[in-house]
Amino acid sequence: MDVSHLLDGLNDAQREAVSAPPGHYLILAGAGSGKTRVLTHRIGWLTQVEGVPPWAILSVTFTNKAAGEMRSRLDGIVPGGTQGLTVGTFHGIAHRLLRRHWREAGLVEGFQILDSDDQQRIIKRVVAGMGLDEARFPPRQAAWQINQWKDEGKRPDSIEHRDHPVTRTFVEIYKAYEQQCQRAGLVDFAELLLRAHELWLKDPYVLKHYQDRWRYLLIDEFQDTNTLQYAWIRVLAGSTGQVFVVGDDDQAIYGWRGAKVENVQQFLRDFPGAKTIRLEQNYRSTSTILKAANAVIARNGGRLGKQLWTDGDEGDRIALYAAYNEQDEARFVIERIREYIAEHGNARDCAILYRSNAQSRNFEEQLIQRNLPYRVYGGLRFFERAEIKDALAYLRLASNRHDDAAFERAVNTPTRGIGDRTLDELRRRARQDGSSMWEAVLNEIAMGSLAGRAKNALRSFIALIDEMHRTFRGGDAAADDAPAGLDLAEQIEHAITHTGLRDFYENDKRGNGEARVENLDELVNVASRFEMTPEDTDAGLNELSAFLSHAALEAGEGQGEAWDDCVQLMTLHSAKGLEFPIVFLVGMEEGLFPSQRSTEEENRLEEERRLAYVGITRARQKLYVSHAESRRMHGTEMLARPSRFLGEIPPELIDELRPRVQVSRPAYADRFAGGGGGGFEEPMPVKLGQRVSHPKFGEGTIVSAEGAGAHMRVQVNFEDEGSKWLVYAYANLTAL
Ligand code: ATP
Ligand code: MG
Repeated sequence: MDVSHLLDGLNDAQREAVSAPPGHYLILAGAGSGKTRVLTHRIGWLTQVEGVPPWAILSVTFTNKAAGEMRSRLDGIVPGGTQGLTVGTFHGIAHRLLRRHWREAGLVEGFQILDSDDQQRIIKRVVAGMGLDEARFPPRQAAWQINQWKDEGKRPDSIEHRDHPVTRTFVEIYKAYEQQCQRAGLVDFAELLLRAHELWLKDPYVLKHYQDRWRYLLIDEFQDTNTLQYAWIRVLAGSTGQVFVVGDDDQAIYGWRGAKVENVQQFLRDFPGAKTIRLEQNYRSTSTILKAANAVIARNGGRLGKQLWTDGDEGDRIALYAAYNEQDEARFVIERIREYIAEHGNARDCAILYRSNAQSRNFEEQLIQRNLPYRVYGGLRFFERAEIKDALAYLRLASNRHDDAAFERAVNTPTRGIGDRTLDELRRRARQDGSSMWEAVLNEIAMGSLAGRAKNALRSFIALIDEMHRTFRGGDAAADDAPAGLDLAEQIEHAITHTGLRDFYENDKRGNGEARVENLDELVNVASRFEMTPEDTDAGLNELSAFLSHAALEAGEGQGEAWDDCVQLMTLHSAKGLEFPIVFLVGMEEGLFPSQRSTEEENRLEEERRLAYVGITRARQKLYVSHAESRRMHGTEMLARPSRFLGEIPPELIDELRPRVQVSRPAYADRFAGGGGGGFEEPMPVKLGQRVSHPKFGEGTIVSAEGAGAHMRVQVNFEDEGSKWLVYAYANLTAL
């Protein structure tokens, strides 16, 4: 068989990795050196040269999008494509396992996945139910703590320092939350993985089955695996599995979420005979872009040390734009994109990358104004929008009555006149009996303890859900009076209409009701395009459960389709592993990127620097970097200094697009015009050491000042919020 296509077009180190003899391998290499490409070709090599059947291969990617891309690349290089091969994210793979082995894993058959928003709601109720003070035990923090414990593989009984009073309370919350989830048949993201891991440990037959099956494990972006993911792979590999991992310690950017870059070195210790192969040639970027990336990352300590070079063109210099404010920045970026599209035609070549989701809005506004198609990945997540979750809650409840998270969402949307008192009473009952809300309603109705109005409302709610259930049963629907066998899109349409959701949003006077109805229609469209994967069928899911699971698992990845010709907007975190001809790295300001909190701790700052490295190395031909001199954040105008990362790029690689001059006098300059200054009070004189109070940030001390008049900026050390630079004219400070 001719397999030259698997090695042609690879360099020596890449070939060595692709065609390596059996064993464990760590491919350690910088950005754009072909790690993902090597991993894909390795799969082709195993199946075509080594005669490994595709079903013996498990390949783990970081996002569903990456899994999809890997499948389509494999279709190109492996005859017969990816049939039987397992490719997915850790969560996706764990989910499939649990669907198939729900009984052994101690779950209910139709368990539902809980997203982080619903998780927090449940925890909030747990905290309230335990009579705890929410201010002392904020649900957000409890959720974070519980997820962290789960990511470390810990159940309440195995947590250290449980006798510390605060820890003890969090452990109690964890326990109560676990019970709630178990009873309601809900599984959060971290739980998917922990359960799947526990399944290995407690069921030797299941473990043996998968150890025998998946003898080849390949993992991309290995530097961002967490403790549990690592343990999961180790157990699964056992003594016979062969593990091939690829990663780059300089791109470890999920430490804040529990990822352990130490796993890279741990791997070499835990897997006997593991061999490291380094790739050093970058094929992605121009030499200018690569030099900039290398210079920035060189500032970090404790690196595993990698050389990265390219024989690519020098390319353009990096364009730096110092915007006047965030709108000017957006205007600049969109103008450049327009020019590019006019010349080359492809919107999807352009990516705007930012540090935090909230930054997308300004760019979106400009894109809409200019009529340019765009996609936001992450951020504005389709499946996380309120109206979409409302509609899905009905479907979830219809397929599992004990899903309390869905019950809580559906019961009063649209409003049914079921008051808070009634609901509180139901929650109390449910807690007391250890039952679901649904059962509590049935009990209360049976005992006749509800007031007339609430009783009627709840009765018709129950009838509505039961009716939906009958309608959706597909096969058995014909047995009832319900319309037989609605397909998925019809089921969703039916739910949206019969529950009154559509009317509710159509008559919503709070604005954007129309957009919400459009989103509901889009949900029907999404459902009509939905196709079950072979894995879904394998796992015995019906179409509705498969759809609901996909909605939960893909919520974080936005609605973008790779082939749409759209400008791409995403956070730096979600840009990992991707590449674009033209990249705009925006909001390069101290306090934003690096973020304020990261500047106080060296290891956090280094993680931010790795994020800058990831950002720079996404660009193939042209990189733009920009910062705004003033930016409205949290409702306050702040003056921002350029990010230190800009200063770490060698100046000879940079082309400053506009010298930093004041373009126009801002409106607030009038304040300083003297005379009848539009009713403004004369600002107080600035004294260093002056104690001041700010409406949002509280009290602090002025520690430095620069500039004059309308452009004067002051640095204030706030007691609670740390140090901030503010435009004095806007800051609204009061002397204390
Ligand atoms: P990242 O660290 O960002 O995930 P990576 O190391 O996974 O990057 P790839 O995405 O696999 O890198 O490859 C980067 C680009 O270089 C891709 O466009 C890929 O097709 C191309 N490439 C990789 N190896 C070669 C090669 N030997 N010849 C030509 N192009 C290559
Ligand atoms: Mg990659």
